[in-house]
Amino acid sequence: MRPARALIDLDALRHNYRLARRLGGGRALAVVKADAYGHGAVRCAQALETEADGFAVACIEEALVLRQAGIRKPILLLEGFFEASELPLLLEHDLWSVVHAPWQVEVLERTPLPRPLTVWLKLDSGMHRLGIGADEYAAAWRRLEALPHVRPAVKMSHFARADELDCARTREQLDTFARATAGLPGQTSICNSPALLGWPEARGDWARPGLMLYGVSPFARGHDLAAQLRPVMTLESKVIAVRELPAGEPVGYGARFVTEAPTRVGVVALGYADGYPQFAANGTPVAIDGRPGRLVGRVSMDMLTVDLSDHPQAGVGSRVELWGAQVPAAEVVARSQTSSYRLLCAVKRVPLVYQG
Ligand SMILES: *Cc1c(COP(=O)(O)O)cnc(C)c1O
Repeated sequence: MRPARALIDLDALRHNYRLARRLGGGRALAVVKADAYGHGAVRCAQALETEADGFAVACIEEALVLRQAGIRKPILLLEGFFEASELPLLLEHDLWSVVHAPWQVEVLERTPLPRPLTVWLKLDSGMHRLGIGADEYAAAWRRLEALPHVRPAVKMSHFARADELDCARTREQLDTFARATAGLPGQTSICNSPALLGWPEARGDWARPGLMLYGVSPFARGHDLAAQLRPVMTLESKVIAVRELPAGEPVGYGARFVTEAPTRVGVVALGYADGYPQFAANGTPVAIDGRPGRLVGRVSMDMLTVDLSDHPQAGVGSRVELWGAQVPAAEVVARSQTSSYRLLCAVKRVPLVYQG
C-alpha cells in the first residue's frame, strides 16, 4: 500500500473548537464547508456534535451530507439558497439560511412556507462580496420580519482583512455594522478565525470559526493565542528510494535543484496530486523520522524529493512529515505561493486516518 496519508487528530479539533468558543464569548458554529477544509466534514462534525452549538457549510448539498450522516445540530448555509425550489428542503432538513442579497428577500416574499425558516441576514460592512448594503439593511430586516414564514434571527457580517492586525479596515467594518444594525432586534455574528484570535472587540453572540478549528494560524507572524491551537492534520508518507549524488547533479523536473556537494536524496511517495504545493521552494521544511529536514527539487505529481545528507540513519521506509504535528503548515505556506486555506482544501487522494 502506498504510505501517503493524512492523520486527523480529532482531540485537537475539539481542543481548537473549545478555544474558539471561549474566545468568542458566546456560541460558535463550527465551519465545516469544503469537506471541513479537507479534513472530512462528516467525521469532523461527528467528533464535535456533542459540544458544538451548530455547523456552517457553503450550500445545501454539503448540509445534506451531514444530515444523512446523522448530524442533528443546527446547520447554517453560508451562501443561503440559490433558488426558490430549495426552500422546502431547507425546512424539511431543519437548515438555517443566510440571506445576503435583495433577490433572496424577494424570493422569500413570494414563496409561502408551512413553517418559519430561520434566517441570518448578512450585511455588507465593507468586504463587498456578499451582503445587503448598509443603507438598505434595516429595511430588508423589517421586510423579513413582516413575513409569517420567515424568522430573521441573526445580524451577520464578514471581515475582509481581520488577519492584518494593524489594518484599520476591520474597525471601520465594525463601525458600519454597529450603524447599520442599530435598533434592530436579533443576535449578532461577525467573527471568523482571525477576528476571534485578533479582534476581541468584534465578539458577538455567534462565532464562525473555520481555519482555527483545524489548528492553523491565520496570521503571517507569531501570535500568542494562535500558538495555543493544536494542528489537526499531519500529512505524511515514506521514502521509497535513495540516490547518492556527487556535486553538480540536477534533481527532478527542470533541474530546479542542483547538488552543491555530494548529496543523499530521498524520494518520498507524495506529490502535488495529493495536495502538496507544486511550487514549494527548495528548503521548505519537512520532518524526516522526526528530525528537521528540507525539500529539494521540484515537486512531481506523485513524488517529491528531500535532502537526506544530514540524516545518515534515514533510508527507504523512513517516515517523512510534510506538515502537521512537527512542521507547522504555516511554514510550508510561507514558502509555497499559497495560503493556509488552500493548502488544506487541496489535500486529496491520500486516505484520511482518524485518531482520538
Ligand atoms: C468560511 C467562512 C468563515 C470561516 O472563516 P475562517 O477564516 O476559516 O475562520 C466564516 N464566515 C463565513 C461567512 C465564511 O464564508
